[in-house]
Amino acid sequence: MGKNCVFCKIATKEIKSSVVFEDDDVLAFKDLNPEAPVHVLIIPKKHIETLDKADREDVQLLGKLLFTAKEIAGRSGSLAGGYRTVINCNRDAGQEVFHLHVHLLGGRKFSWPPG
Ligand code: AMP
Ligand code: ZN
Repeated sequence: MGKNCVFCKIATKEIKSSVVFEDDDVLAFKDLNPEAPVHVLIIPKKHIETLDKADREDVQLLGKLLFTAKEIAGRSGSLAGGYRTVINCNRDAGQEVFHLHVHLLGGRKFSWPPG
């Protein structure tokens, strides 16, 4: 567990969240300040600070995060037209919580390039 890590505390249920999916390795929950009608965060239960800090031993776990996003999107009718997955890595990308997470966003149109 990362010291005072909010997402570790969400993973252990020390902090409440609206859980969308859970298994032994990952947890998906609704973002507290959604940027789209659907905004889910998918985290590894293992504390990894940023994508940058993932090890080779985390390869399968990284795949599972994306696969979980796809599974959740597949179950959500409002994402039939498309959705976006985002990983903000470090400060310049706007990462605010330093526990690796995939944003699953959908239910509206997104522009490209991102801001
Ligand atoms: P990032 O900028 O990529 O680090 O995204 C962090 C995300 O975590 C933001 O979209 C926040 O709204 C979200 N967030 C922070 N604290 C919580 C929380 N306790 N429960 C749910 N989402 C949270
Ligand atoms: Zn953590």
